[in-house]
Amino acid sequence: MVEGKILKVSGPLVVAEGMREANMFDVVRVGEKRLIGEIIEMHGDRASIQVYEETAGIGRGDKVVSTGAPLSVELGPGLLTNIYDGIQRPLETMRIKVGANLTRGIDEPALDRTKLWHFTPALKFGDRVNPGDVYGTVQENGVILHKIMVPPKTRGIIVDLREGDFRVTDRIGKIKYEDGTISDITLMQKWPVRVARPYKEKLPPVDPMITGQRIIDALFPIAKGGTACVPGPFGSGKTVVQHQLAKWSDVDLVVYIGCGERGNEMTDVLREFPELIDPKTGKSLMERTVLIANTSDMPVAAREASIYTGITIAEYFRDMGYSVAVIADSTSRWAEALREMSGRLEEMPGEEGYPAYLTSRLAQFYERAGKVVCLGSDGREGALSAIGAVSPQGGDISEPVTQATLRIVKVFWGLDASLAYRRHFPALNWLNSYSLYRDRLSGWFSENVAKNFMDYTGRCLKTLQLEADLQEIVKLVGMDALSAEDRLTLDVAQSIREDFLQQNAFVDVDCYTPLPKQHAMLELIFTYEDQARRAIAAGADIEDICNLPVHESIGRAKSVENDRYQTEFAAILRDIRAQVDRLIEAVEKD
Ligand code: ADP
Repeated sequence: MVEGKILKVSGPLVVAEGMREANMFDVVRVGEKRLIGEIIEMHGDRASIQVYEETAGIGRGDKVVSTGAPLSVELGPGLLTNIYDGIQRPLETMRIKVGANLTRGIDEPALDRTKLWHFTPALKFGDRVNPGDVYGTVQENGVILHKIMVPPKTRGIIVDLREGDFRVTDRIGKIKYEDGTISDITLMQKWPVRVARPYKEKLPPVDPMITGQRIIDALFPIAKGGTACVPGPFGSGKTVVQHQLAKWSDVDLVVYIGCGERGNEMTDVLREFPELIDPKTGKSLMERTVLIANTSDMPVAAREASIYTGITIAEYFRDMGYSVAVIADSTSRWAEALREMSGRLEEMPGEEGYPAYLTSRLAQFYERAGKVVCLGSDGREGALSAIGAVSPQGGDISEPVTQATLRIVKVFWGLDASLAYRRHFPALNWLNSYSLYRDRLSGWFSENVAKNFMDYTGRCLKTLQLEADLQEIVKLVGMDALSAEDRLTLDVAQSIREDFLQQNAFVDVDCYTPLPKQHAMLELIFTYEDQARRAIAAGADIEDICNLPVHESIGRAKSVENDRYQTEFAAILRDIRAQVDRLIEAVEKD
């Protein structure tokens, strides 16, 4: 065991000497109180240590002991519904034990050591196992079946495996390794957070993570295993978007990493998330959620670790063959922690004081997303989608964290405070948002939704862009200068915005729209456009076209129940044609 002495303390940074034998990223215990820290730099026998707890009262000469192991998380039954801090300490258990203010240096295992889980084996005596093979399962709760997997790098023959009720550290069986040694099998395994968990093969992301949010699915879709970034100026509806994604996305699990700045940002999440009901099961959303929360009484350094803690837990569930979404809110706060440590390490600052390695660190996080063939002989596939919120100061997305993120992620959902101010929700700006998955996913959409789904969505984007250009002209020379065709474009764009993109998260029929209904809504809008263009060609007046009563039916389409829309929409389509026919007849009569 390596033991050193503190040379200096600077906030969350402690420099200790006598650490030559220690390793980079080893976890150390600092001072009498045994505060938890991690070695983040080594120079000869000096180690720079990032301490995850308040360092007040620690001083020169105090001892530092290395645990000889990297910062790791415990993986096993009991992860779900839990709320952890950035280094996977269970907040609720600690609160019960020591009260609301976290005592420093306390050791509380991440997984409950007393709880019994019923284990059902899938293998038996004599079976040969390789990494990722499934020993058996634990029904963790009504929603998630927890697969107990052979850890990476482990191979051997099962010499014992039993059904029964076990604690996470109990022996559920024994494995004989290839070298002949025999070892216990437990429900729990550990994994170092800064190392990505291995998989067999990365697959191209070709199927969408369906969210039921129309502007996302239709215009700016994210693939399962994809990456997205969402900036959230205050009041722009970021929280609602995150809740909607957590509730409605067709993923099996959600890992939410909260690195809030102000204490209240985090308490909001801690209070609201457990109250959310999972629409698919009617149970608490927490049954398929793991929350990582950096409470305000923890120093910033803990935020740095939280991102890795969260994504490692997500990878573990991906390895079981699940589709997992990680939501990190916000990576800006995480980057600030990085900046603070970098400053204290006296590293050469880059743009706005962020370290030069900001982009590569962000990339390391997002690179852990993906759709993969998991380890294990059954060929199961898992997906990890990563969504990072950024909170640029004053909504200025040219700042370094947003820019670095945009270089990495494939989807940008640009939440816009001015849209929110106009009560256009979700306040995604359709002009600056983008998804680089549109091409990749188009095959899936045309096969599984409708052949022309992507044509429609492409038309939406084009019409909205045209609208922006036309509005510039209108500002200069007035509406009257526009041709009938252009005025119709504005009319259709308005319909796209109001009748399709606007979606109320608090109205039952509207909060989730299945893809076929999204397609049918677009069909209404573009059938109207096609018919109206026919009327213009026949000489009808644009005012008359824009005043056709069918506008109202198209506007009400979103509130038609999901199980009834087909017949109602068919009637609207008939109305569109009939009303346009009547207009044309009238023109021809004149
Ligand atoms: P932020 O987290 O960005 O500060 P919120 O997510 O709390 O903002 O949203 C602010 C308010 O905007 C909400 O209380 C709600 O009234 C409204 N809002 C946001 N998104 C929607 C939506 N999709 N549908 C209806 N109202 C919304």
